[in-house]
Amino acid sequence: DVRHGPILYLEDVSVSFDGFKAINNLNLTIDDGELRCIIGPNGAGKTTMMDIITGKTRPDTGSVWFGSRHNLLTMNEPDIATLGIGRKFQKPTVFEALTVFENLELAMAADKRVLQTLTARLSGEHRDRIDEVLKLIGLSQLRNREAGILSHGQKQWLEIGMLLMQKPRLLLVDEPVAGMTEQEMERTAELLTSLAGEQSVVVVEHDMGFVRSIAKKVTVLHQGSVLAEGTMDQVSNDRKVIEVYLGE
Ligand code: ADP
Repeated sequence: DVRHGPILYLEDVSVSFDGFKAINNLNLTIDDGELRCIIGPNGAGKTTMMDIITGKTRPDTGSVWFGSRHNLLTMNEPDIATLGIGRKFQKPTVFEALTVFENLELAMAADKRVLQTLTARLSGEHRDRIDEVLKLIGLSQLRNREAGILSHGQKQWLEIGMLLMQKPRLLLVDEPVAGMTEQEMERTAELLTSLAGEQSVVVVEHDMGFVRSIAKKVTVLHQGSVLAEGTMDQVSNDRKVIEVYLGE
């Protein structure tokens, strides 16, 4: 296995909006294949951090590296996505009138190689990958049903599947279990856990029970920087963390 070292590296990153430091000397390292949870009170900078990683927001200072070769601050948003960084926003945005299968097929075309993709589609080249992804997200049985009939949780899994079609190296997932049933949350924990290893996964989540159920390592953000990092047990017993959450 040639994998080693960090896949993502943020060093002394800061960004201000109208003089307010949303991100303040943030340092964060995500190892290759790691599953990391990011928690923190509202306004801690979680969304802004994701925006910086994907190139949507440019920091004022600091550096952001993907692997050891890609300085993300010299790249635009589409090129960063092409490196293999996929982002899942909180609300599912699947194509409801298309089948589950067609949604996954279309996700393959969501890059610059559309012509190649169409050719491959005609030759059925993506079917193996679609079958693989359908299994991962547990929707094989529903492959030919319209996405509009899926439950909220199933739509979230389909959208994660759409990101997986591109074989990303890093998945950024924003509040995946908001609005899910207990059972769907358990299934989501299994899914995200099974994805780690093959890809690195960074999950921003408010539901502490869920975070506890999946996380090996948790980073607590507060006022734009890292307040604590460690296992859920470690951070939840950290005095600084307790103060921040009690003060919420
Ligand atoms: P979180 O996702 O942890 O709730 P955010 O990253 O959304 O936190 O926000 C961090 C802080 O930065 C908040 O105080 C928010 O109001 C502010 N902020 C975020 N984006 C902007 C923006 N585009 N313009 C002005 N202020 C912003």
